[in-house]
Amino acid sequence: MAEIQTKKITIEKSQTSKINDVDFENLMFGRVFTDHMFVCDFEDGKWQNPKIMPYQPLTIEPSARVFHYGQAVFEGMKAYKDENGQIFLFRPDENYKRINKSAARLAIPEFPESYFFEGMETLLKLDREWIKPGVGNSLYIRPFVIATEPAISASPAEAYRFMIICSPAKAYYNAPVRVLFAEKFSRSADGGVGFAKAAGNYAAQFYPTSLAQKKGFQQIIWTDASTHEYLEEAGTMNIFFRVGDKLITAPNNDRILDGVTRKSVIQLAEDLGIECEVRRVSVKEIKAAAKNGSLKEIFGAGTAAVISQVSAFEHAGEVFEMPEIENNYASLFKKSLMHIQHNLSEDKHGWRHEIK
Ligand SMILES: *Cc1c(COP(=O)(O)O)cnc(C)c1O
Repeated sequence: MAEIQTKKITIEKSQTSKINDVDFENLMFGRVFTDHMFVCDFEDGKWQNPKIMPYQPLTIEPSARVFHYGQAVFEGMKAYKDENGQIFLFRPDENYKRINKSAARLAIPEFPESYFFEGMETLLKLDREWIKPGVGNSLYIRPFVIATEPAISASPAEAYRFMIICSPAKAYYNAPVRVLFAEKFSRSADGGVGFAKAAGNYAAQFYPTSLAQKKGFQQIIWTDASTHEYLEEAGTMNIFFRVGDKLITAPNNDRILDGVTRKSVIQLAEDLGIECEVRRVSVKEIKAAAKNGSLKEIFGAGTAAVISQVSAFEHAGEVFEMPEIENNYASLFKKSLMHIQHNLSEDKHGWRHEIK
């Protein structure tokens, strides 16, 4: 484990704020960033010099290994504000554990817990005006780590930078999406890095997704790489199928990202008395269920969009339009999660983390 220093975070405040230039009613996802960012470097075998500074471009050598070998991992989480101005994170300990799991897989040194939380909380307090109250408003938080060592030999770097940047967001991906079940391309394989939030997992999806988009499908539901017979995840979201009144979602494995929203939905289903099977889901059974009318809903679950309904899917040239279901599970889970996140309902499982 990396050595933990308890030295305080250095803070360099921004002289001016960009906040008055931002139209909070018309935000595009991930385009605008707050006034500050958190930075911490790994050098001489330890994470050191944690600081907060004005959001600004980086100066990195072109030989930095991240540019050549993609040694980069990230997280995605959100801060919420209630009507009293209190700020909350949602299960941030899960993101902390996961960024280190991802880092370990990419031979990146573990980031200390105290820096992760102190850095994030100090940053959120400085930029608190950027978090708007109201259900649907949030501040998207992007922690990430990149290999900065200027040396292009193909081996793990000896220098890294951990950073946190924040972007105000409205609930993202609200319109239902049309999806394609993958038949040829794969996003991850057994023994690979699919379970990690590795930057390269996204790069690998862009081309097949652009082909799907040309056919009118916004996203791909990835299937297992060896047979393409089992449905796994959407690549930015985990996926749930409702057959009759029962939910089904794929089990975690080394090809699937262990989503915080997914595990929260599974818990909420249990709380609500909705049966949820965690098991392999075959393309065949979902097509059969669509044909016999028992397939009621498909939805994705992830921090950015919370819950995203699927309105149609395509596989082997067949297109299936999903029925419109009143009182659907997707809306129920979305509302339940958002109410917990915004301190509007009881937090039975202790998921809210207040920033004091
Ligand atoms: C981030 C991500 C998800 C969703 O995870 P959450 O923790 O719920 O935000 C799902 N799949 C992939 C590949 C992801 O990168």
